[in-house]
Amino acid sequence: MTKQKLVILGGGESGVGTALLGKEKGYNVFVSDKGTIKETYKKVLIHNEIEWEDERHSEAKILDADIVMKSPGIPDKVTLVKQIRAQGIRVVSEIEFASMYTNATIVGITGSNGKTTTASLTHHILKQAMEVGLAGNIGDSFAKQVLEDNHPNYVLEISSFQLDDIISFKPHIAVITNITPDHLDRYDYQFENYIRSKFRIAENQTREDYLIYNADDEVIVNHLKDHPVQSTLLPFSLEKVIENGAYLDNDNIKLTIDNKQFIMPTTSLTLEGKHNIKNAMAATTVAHLLKIRKQTIRESLENFQGVEHRLEHVLKINKVQYINDSKATNVNATYYALESMDAPTVWIVGGVDKGNNYEELFPFVNEKVKAIICLGVDNEKLMNTFGSMVDIIIETQFMSEAVKIAYKVADSGDNVLLSPACASFDLFENYEDRGRQFKDAVRNL
Ligand code: ADP
Repeated sequence: MTKQKLVILGGGESGVGTALLGKEKGYNVFVSDKGTIKETYKKVLIHNEIEWEDERHSEAKILDADIVMKSPGIPDKVTLVKQIRAQGIRVVSEIEFASMYTNATIVGITGSNGKTTTASLTHHILKQAMEVGLAGNIGDSFAKQVLEDNHPNYVLEISSFQLDDIISFKPHIAVITNITPDHLDRYDYQFENYIRSKFRIAENQTREDYLIYNADDEVIVNHLKDHPVQSTLLPFSLEKVIENGAYLDNDNIKLTIDNKQFIMPTTSLTLEGKHNIKNAMAATTVAHLLKIRKQTIRESLENFQGVEHRLEHVLKINKVQYINDSKATNVNATYYALESMDAPTVWIVGGVDKGNNYEELFPFVNEKVKAIICLGVDNEKLMNTFGSMVDIIIETQFMSEAVKIAYKVADSGDNVLLSPACASFDLFENYEDRGRQFKDAVRNL
């Protein structure tokens, strides 16, 4: 029998992981990347005798595929992808492909913000009591872990792009943290399309599966009203009492599932900010469903150290706290960062504006922000928007300078917060680079 041909578009972490798994499962594998494949990945492909090309797509070698794995970064509007689809070739994402080769219990976490934090926190709790992998946009690809580790359980951080190309992928437990407009360029600028994409996480679920969702998020609640799902629903909320699910009761997280209760004071959470209470509620609900002991859940929530670049406390210098929230690449994330500030704040903001509307930040800026440092190539919109709201507003194109100015402006007891609300590509390689440069600059003060 001739082998089935698996073509992989994109030679990054998920592409190379899929190539390895595909080869092991008996496919004839070909990896094609229009850009440059990183040396480390090239070595893996060569070592495993997997055919590949980069800086081009050889159509003849692609259009005879039986199945195509499209990496999440490649948009549907690319001509080659259109051709592939027009020929009726099955296109899947990496999570779809990898999930065909595991019977593991899967917890899938999606949303516009909070995926990495919630996935990492959930994994942190579960790993105290079971063998569980953490994958998706974090660390080693899901496909590679299915091949090499074959964990019986996985927590997956799942982007809408990964969900766009699923067919039968079905997490036993799904989480939707929130939905705010993001990546609309990939969804024909229709928010509705993006919402639908997020909800695909539940499309193959049955009543035996669970959908944990943010009941304070009107977008989610309204969508559920109009498009009911099969899944058993478990909401969480900061604002209202939830009978089956989690809510806030006098600074306690109260979780009830099938009349069993779990209570935990929010003061003992290591993570700060209201958004992190929500993330903790979601993670706690997952842990409960998977029968983790209450004591284990409590201890894990008390000692979770957070994830780099997300409201990360860097250093205290002269009683000024420096906080790195470089991952805040949209207004919603920065909203929660500013909300959680408990002292006058020097705010470093800016970068590539994705059509931001800053209005929802105004109350916090008026109340808490004493100075703004605009860090971007084009700071005009920020200067115009916030110029009249604060006494000090300064612009710069250098992180080291931004931090030095912040150092001068901040008084004892203040916070210096990097929470850009913008993408980083104008001045930095990515948000990690931006966060690292911030931390280096702080350490050099
Ligand atoms: P994602 O993986 O979805 O990008 P992260 O956990 O990396 O989410 O967090 C991205 C940004 O959003 C950070 O600035 C973080 O502080 C903020 N954030 C985390 N959780 C939430 C939430 N539930 N709602 C809004 N913002 C959040």
